[in-house]
Amino acid sequence: MSRYRLTPTPVQTPGLLEHCAHARLVWNLCVEQQSLYRPGRGRMPGFAERCRQLTQAREAFGWLRDGSVIVQQQAVKDHSQAMANFFAGTHCLPTWRKAGRDEGFRIVHAKPGDVRRVSRNVGQVRIPKIGWVRFRWSRAVPEEAKSYRVTRDRAGRWHVAFAVAPKPVPAPGTGEVVGVDRGVAVSAALSTGTLLRSPGLTETERQRLSRFERRLARAARGSRRRGRIRLAMARLKARETDRRRDFVEKASTDLARGFDVIAVENLDIRAMTRSAAGTVERPGRGVRRKARLNRVVLAQGWGRLVARLEHKAPGRVVKVKAAYTSRTCNVCKHVAAESRESQARFVCVACGHRANADVNAARNIRDGTAAGHAVAARGRPGMPGRTNREPQLTAP
Ligand SMILES: [Zn+2]
Repeated sequence: MSRYRLTPTPVQTPGLLEHCAHARLVWNLCVEQQSLYRPGRGRMPGFAERCRQLTQAREAFGWLRDGSVIVQQQAVKDHSQAMANFFAGTHCLPTWRKAGRDEGFRIVHAKPGDVRRVSRNVGQVRIPKIGWVRFRWSRAVPEEAKSYRVTRDRAGRWHVAFAVAPKPVPAPGTGEVVGVDRGVAVSAALSTGTLLRSPGLTETERQRLSRFERRLARAARGSRRRGRIRLAMARLKARETDRRRDFVEKASTDLARGFDVIAVENLDIRAMTRSAAGTVERPGRGVRRKARLNRVVLAQGWGRLVARLEHKAPGRVVKVKAAYTSRTCNVCKHVAAESRESQARFVCVACGHRANADVNAARNIRDGTAAGHAVAARGRPGMPGRTNREPQLTAP
């Protein structure tokens, strides 16, 4: 991910915030329009139709017309993409964006001259209606970047990210198949026995965060002290997000480089979230535990990992039906919920096979593919010596 710290001048900041406000307004209008949808009422307007509506709105409202059409149109596009992700089952339904929390906009059709380097550590990027905005040239800017996204995080920092579709990673050509399970105890478990842990905050950082939380509870509403605490908390959380993002990039590259076929659970995050919530009158069973699980799944960016894998290993990602993968013994294929002794341990009630629960599931996922089936038939996985040949995936 090529993300750079943007350093607008005090004069430029209001203009950037206005772009953010327009993008948010357009996005929220799309969300509202979508929320009015009822089955049998015909199709929802698509991207083209919404762009026509946007043009009409710009004609009617001068303040909207004064903003950038690119910024506003891209918000429509972002929403369309979010809906496509929702229908694909990898992401949740797009929701309202809030001021202060979701500040950002996207610029497309960038020309090569729209990004330039002015000194060793300083670059400039052209932003419609604002002009050249400086950013820290912390590493080379990808030349093929056609679009960029400007964001302001909760800590008040501005960033610019240049979007480059990741180049496909060549397959190793070994015929190796790996199963990847979305872990609960860990971020992802591989059928090779490797556990990938997404780095979060360190113990010290977590302690600092909870100290801030306690202080925040005591700070008077609207006080400057409260603002300072919130800012410090936002900085810590931004650090956590950055680490997770790096982890997904690294893990997806390592997997694409190390294996010919990558089998993942066909996980419907949307359905999981829905089933956990239930309705107000009839909350789903075990809501509390499931809700927590959902948060973990979503937070650890499983959807993001799968999306990146599909970019980097096009045609080599196989989605396997997730039913029973966590309750089936990979050795004797006996299915029993009791075999999952705990979140982390799997002990087969039929044959006594013991394994890490997530690794056992990952092996079932691998064996769920045609190619994985052949591998499983050639020899039992997890034998000593075999694992040594697998690439070492080291989570930072
Ligand atoms: Zn068994």
